[in-house]
Amino acid sequence: MRVDARFFDGEIARDHAVSAELAPEGLAIEGIEVSRRVWSLSGLVAISPIEAGRPARLGHDGAPGARLVITDQAFVRELVGRAPHLAGGLNVRKTGRWVAIIGTCALLTAGILYLTLSYAPQTLAFVLPESWRHTLGDQVEATLAGGAKLCATSTSNMALADLASRVAQGDPEAPLFELKVYDIDIVNAFALPGDRIVLTRKLIETAEAPEEVAGVLAHEMGHVYHRHAEAQMVRALGIELLLKVASGGGGDIGGLAGLLAILRYSRDAEREADSFALDQLKKVAIDPLGLKRFFERMMKLEGDRGSSGGIFGTVSDMMSTHPVTRERIDAIKPLPQGTAARPVLTDADWASLKKICG
Ligand SMILES: [Zn+2]
Repeated sequence: MRVDARFFDGEIARDHAVSAELAPEGLAIEGIEVSRRVWSLSGLVAISPIEAGRPARLGHDGAPGARLVITDQAFVRELVGRAPHLAGGLNVRKTGRWVAIIGTCALLTAGILYLTLSYAPQTLAFVLPESWRHTLGDQVEATLAGGAKLCATSTSNMALADLASRVAQGDPEAPLFELKVYDIDIVNAFALPGDRIVLTRKLIETAEAPEEVAGVLAHEMGHVYHRHAEAQMVRALGIELLLKVASGGGGDIGGLAGLLAILRYSRDAEREADSFALDQLKKVAIDPLGLKRFFERMMKLEGDRGSSGGIFGTVSDMMSTHPVTRERIDAIKPLPQGTAARPVLTDADWASLKKICG
């Protein structure tokens, strides 16, 4: 049985299309850009617990940082049948690194230091334990919100959920993310560790159409997909502070300004997130020109305000954490001819989303 899969080599932040096959000697992986390799079944590690209906994300003892995402459920079942340890999630017996996560602190530190010394932050972002990513996400979200109200009304939350599923629709490999809106008076959107996305009230207010919010959301999904927030935190905090923050044992990520500096992405990261967003919008037939209009409005606001911009001008808005350039705007093209854009939300849902903060 041979199925399509996505392979992430851990070196560059991009997936490769490959085929995966159960060979007598193990799991064989091969693609146009990926030379044939065989992962022994005993060395396979489930990066996140394998659940029915969800893509399986696998790593291997012998290939730190690499991961393979298999969507075909029949194949995943057959694989788990032959490698039953995968069903339990972590391969405790085989992997010292994973033993460390569950076990002793000293071993944990040693394992992580080893990883830090050996691999780039972007790679490390993909091997951070799930529990760390979520603890980091909690702390970053709390700092970011800074006591701001979490916006939620029953109808607007349904509109928000509709928007999220509309953007992720039809893609089993789209990142599973948690979406929230806070009553924050700056225009921004954040991808946080642990697959969270936060939009601000001002962003929802500034957007003139649901396609604009959908475009921004798709862009943030790109950051989630590439784990840019985790990688930035590894870069900025270093692994020891990260360890303290993640374990809840003291250490903090500093104030809002410090956090926003951490979450400021490189042009390469922005390009990666844009490219993910444009692919995703095309897949789900959402007009990408919404994102273009939004970026243009952001650029104009920045221009009107001038570069100094006051406290919030320089550290807090969309431009500060996702620098928008002419090049990025020009890269956004309409849907291909013959693809009709489908609406994102009904007028009524859009109206209730606009009022999500009351
Ligand atoms: Zn961005």
